[in-house]
Amino acid sequence: MSETLVNKRDQEFILFEQIGVDRLLSGNAFCGLTRDDILMMRDEAEKMALHVFLPAYAEGDRLGCVFTDGHVRIPPSFHNGYRKFVEGGWLCPTKCEEVGGQGLPISVVTACVEYFYAANFSLLTYPGLTAGAAGLIERFGTAEQKEKYMYRMYQGEWTGTMCLTEANAGTDVGALRTLARRNPDGTYRITGSKCFITGGDHDLTPNIIHLVLARIEGDPPGTEGISVFIVPKVRVREDGTLGESNDVQTGNVEHKMGIHGSATCTLNFGDHDDCIGELLGKEREGIHIMFNMMNEARLEVGMQGLGHATAAYEHAVAYAKERIQSAPVWEMHNPEASPIAIIGHPDIRRNLLWMKAHVEGMRAMNYYAAYCMDMTAVVEDGQERKDWQGLVELLIPVCKAYCSDTGLLVCSKAIDVYGGYGYCSEYPVEQYLRDCKISSIYEGTNGVQALDLVGRKLGERGGANVVHLFGLMAKTIQETMKISVLQKSAAVLGESLQALKEVTEGFAAMAKSAGFLIPILYASPYLRILGDVLLGHFLFGGAAIACRRLQEVYQAEGIEDSPGKQRALVHENADAAFYQGKIAAAKFFANEVLMTVQGRCEAIRMAERAPLEIADESF
Ligand SMILES: Cc1cc2nc3c(=O)[nH]c(=O)nc-3n(C[C@H](O)[C@H](O)[C@H](O)COP(=O)(O)OP(=O)(O)OC[C@H]3O[C@@H](n4cnc5c(N)ncnc54)[C@H](O)[C@@H]3O)c2cc1C
Repeated sequence: MSETLVNKRDQEFILFEQIGVDRLLSGNAFCGLTRDDILMMRDEAEKMALHVFLPAYAEGDRLGCVFTDGHVRIPPSFHNGYRKFVEGGWLCPTKCEEVGGQGLPISVVTACVEYFYAANFSLLTYPGLTAGAAGLIERFGTAEQKEKYMYRMYQGEWTGTMCLTEANAGTDVGALRTLARRNPDGTYRITGSKCFITGGDHDLTPNIIHLVLARIEGDPPGTEGISVFIVPKVRVREDGTLGESNDVQTGNVEHKMGIHGSATCTLNFGDHDDCIGELLGKEREGIHIMFNMMNEARLEVGMQGLGHATAAYEHAVAYAKERIQSAPVWEMHNPEASPIAIIGHPDIRRNLLWMKAHVEGMRAMNYYAAYCMDMTAVVEDGQERKDWQGLVELLIPVCKAYCSDTGLLVCSKAIDVYGGYGYCSEYPVEQYLRDCKISSIYEGTNGVQALDLVGRKLGERGGANVVHLFGLMAKTIQETMKISVLQKSAAVLGESLQALKEVTEGFAAMAKSAGFLIPILYASPYLRILGDVLLGHFLFGGAAIACRRLQEVYQAEGIEDSPGKQRALVHENADAAFYQGKIAAAKFFANEVLMTVQGRCEAIRMAERAPLEIADESF
């Protein structure tokens, strides 16, 4: 078992050496915050994740959520974890102090919370959704609604949910049937049934504040007619005390593949026609309101993918260093040869480096997306703000879909590294794999993320956002091409970017032609390619910095001209080992992943229509 879930050194490298979050600290928005403060918070997060969240991880999986007499009980150990998380100020650290937050940058908090994702994602779902729901009340609620609900949610006294999905309205939210009828006093009577609601019921807090999408009687069909309502599980009296039950019944708790400790509930509103909701924001603006928390929520799902991946990777590395099995291949004809730790076998090394490259690339991409969000809040120039927002819009579907899909692949490779033991519950990696899978489904399935990217995001601002992003990548390539050790691999990144640009231009042309279904058909492979090239951009950006730092380390050691001593230095100098690792990861990624980009782009350009043309009967 590894005690390390996240590579701290890599976090620091990405935050400070690669992205340069220090730039945020020098402005007015976060003044007073120092690098030491950030590291201290990060260490606190790690401590809590390891000592409070992690011990409850396997138990939460084993015990799951229990549904009896219409009520859900969550794993007992989650209660302590939730309380400590709230007391530690982790529920809303990016929010301003007036509402109970600390006004911290999203990028910094994203790095800190990576530990909680890695240690026990199921437990994190309760405060995570609460912060999201409270954030919407903060943005769109009246002063009374904030007083009544938001503060108590931000303080963790009550939790929150997002109730969108219904049995026949999943991806197609506009098909929902939950109805809201006006009461004379300005409130609404809610009737309908929602399914798959995370944290829909539990025994953590005395009240749960549901944000429910519903259609006001007489409003138009589809998404235009949807409004959002604040529906407490227990009514709140004028004086803030809890009153009678609000006719919200829990119909069921799902038995799932993973995240067993996270209660996924069917909720029935108004079975006795006595469920009262308050309108949040304006009528028929429900979808617009929900979209306000989409980017952060989708980044959080990307972080879930990363969190499971980093934990699985760190466990696999630790196991590979301990597990003794088979003599080395170069001793295969020697019956006397001793078995070695499996990290010595080339196939295991390749798997581990595949995992390392993807984990570090995803970490850089997610932190950078969070940094772009911070920049939108910090820059004063309107044009510059649009540029940062444009990057956010493009990166978010990739962070969500790429990291959730890749997180699963990393977990699967971790199981391969463990062999049979990895498949068994004695070791944690099989749970990581099961827990990870949901991230490709909720918060908009990955197929829908790809459609959003291709159908909406690429064309935003007349394509200016994508041109900006490609420009940033081209700059990385230009710089890394100057470094001899990276030159050959950086050229592969350059060819990949060129191929990606051509497909993107082809999509833009097709969008206005009879071939418009081709970009839709190949949206998912396109998203995957964009994600691969983005990871290449971040890995090579990091490798270029690592090359420069490595030279400084060699100079300090006086071994600039001694390759043998440089190689040996990794055994005694952690910086040398780290920087060499960054370079190895980038070079390997180019060879293993980026080499295939041109071929995959060519495949898209071939515009094969078989999936469209094959008859349903032929499947
Ligand atoms: C554990 C868990 C927790 C959840 N938590 C919440 C929650 O807290 N709140 C909430 O509201 N919901 C929640 N959900 C619901 C989740 O968001 C939905 O399951 C998801 O949106 C997909 O809807 P669906 O399951 O009905 O699938 P469907 O919409 O039936 O989709 C099935 C497949 O068809 C594809 N598809 C559908 N329409 C299209 C289209 N137009 N074009 C291309 N492909 C399409 C989808 O991508 C998917 O692959 C949760 C689900 C689970 C399993």
